[in-house]
Amino acid sequence: MSSSRRGLFRAAAEAAARAAAADQAAREPAPPPDPEPLLGDQEVERYSRQLVMEGWGEAEQVALRDASVLVIGAGALGSPVASYLAGAGVGRLGIVDDDLVELSNLHRQFLHFTPDLGQPKAHTAVAKLQFLNPEIAVEPYQVRLDEANADGLVAGHDLVVDCSDGFATRYAVNAACCRAGVALVEGGVVGLTGLVMSIEPGDSACYRCAFPEPPPPGAVPTCAQAGVLGPAAGVIGSLQALEALKLLAGMPGAVTDAFLQVDLARGEVLTVRTARRADCPDCGGLR
Ligand SMILES: [Zn+2]
Repeated sequence: MSSSRRGLFRAAAEAAARAAAADQAAREPAPPPDPEPLLGDQEVERYSRQLVMEGWGEAEQVALRDASVLVIGAGALGSPVASYLAGAGVGRLGIVDDDLVELSNLHRQFLHFTPDLGQPKAHTAVAKLQFLNPEIAVEPYQVRLDEANADGLVAGHDLVVDCSDGFATRYAVNAACCRAGVALVEGGVVGLTGLVMSIEPGDSACYRCAFPEPPPPGAVPTCAQAGVLGPAAGVIGSLQALEALKLLAGMPGAVTDAFLQVDLARGEVLTVRTARRADCPDCGGLR
């Protein structure tokens, strides 16, 4: 056979093989399309350093994006809490604070800058948080949380982080979160000591289970009386933000049925176990 005839035969055979393959492909069901990515390109880039972490992935990131968190207080604890939650991608943040920015706030309340003096903290905080992450919604509530408005403020949120600085507010927040079944991260700092506690109402001890009665007025000094260093508030607020992320993402290890007692003068963190009390007026009736 001449080389030109052989070439013709080879071409014909290859064409037949291609036709057969195309016929086979047409009869086979098409492979399912790739699932829609849960996160957009910008989200993958913005959150890349947490997405690569062991124990954190798309599901955890989407849980944050779908979450609504209320931060009570935009001060020394609220600054790190709100910054870390906004940065991490919590989809909706509410910031509750009725104070105006004062010069004595600035050494520790880093969401407020010197040009913000005299402005409402809720609004100056929200402006910074939107600069930090324009992909999320942040809403200011320029009110003081009290027993009368606590239920309305807590409603509709998945989690509350209490960054207030008074016991009346703390007990009102705890009671409202128990009534609504909303998870709560408590925190407090004065001087170089602080406390952090996570609460899942009905499942773990609430703040009133651990501390049944508020201290008598004046028994615990305020930051105005005893002072506080900015980094000490930063440590406690950061621990609160971490607790919030664990609870929102369903990660293990949140500090429930216990509180952290942090002594930053000595560099010690003590985990103090606590438990639900059947006679707790806030959570005793919850199952
Ligand atoms: Zn309780």
